[in-house]
Amino acid sequence: MSSFSSRLSQVAILTTSLVAFESAFETALSRDVFDSAAVKAFADNSRHGVVAALVWAIFLADCGALSSTACFEVTLAAVLSSLVDVDHFIAAKSLRLEAALSLPYRPFLHCSTLPLVVLASTAVANRLFDFPRLERFGLLTFVSMMSHHTTDGVRRGVWLPPLSGAITISFGLHLALLAFFIPHAAFAYLKLGGDRISAGLLTPTATTRAPFKGQEVV
Ligand SMILES: [Zn+2]
Repeated sequence: MSSFSSRLSQVAILTTSLVAFESAFETALSRDVFDSAAVKAFADNSRHGVVAALVWAIFLADCGALSSTACFEVTLAAVLSSLVDVDHFIAAKSLRLEAALSLPYRPFLHCSTLPLVVLASTAVANRLFDFPRLERFGLLTFVSMMSHHTTDGVRRGVWLPPLSGAITISFGLHLALLAFFIPHAAFAYLKLGGDRISAGLLTPTATTRAPFKGQEVV
């Protein structure tokens, strides 16, 4: 199988898995399968981890980098996406689930302007200090947080200050964003960045900055 058709089949399998997983989870929610707030919160948080892992895996398949070494980044995407909900407890100043779930406002990590700021900051830092892995991490953080916000957005809308109010998104649009737009847009961003962005957090990167005058190149 050629590398292009191999990538295409990986993307197709992962996209189908993501759509099937999200559809099954929504069906479970609509049928009130989760019988307590604690179970529902645990299931919801695990869902964010699975979704972010699949979205990042689609991005890696686009890059032709879905190998055993990709496991680290896929796991990191899942952890970062799940960690977003920690802000409920921080804002409630309590470890009690009831307090965390009854906030009268959206806590700060659910602000969708934040991942944009993270990505932009790491891009600027990379340009200034030649730090390709940092921008890669910024891209991974952006994708992980946006996949969380998109999933939450079906029920609560997407909070994107300075725009006022929450932007509501349908379940179909949320699937399109998760399975198509976010991973492929991240791939396009990587391609546009060229060698400036690291090909992997664990991948050795070539120095992109030109050597200083008189510096020996070995
Ligand atoms: Zn959330």
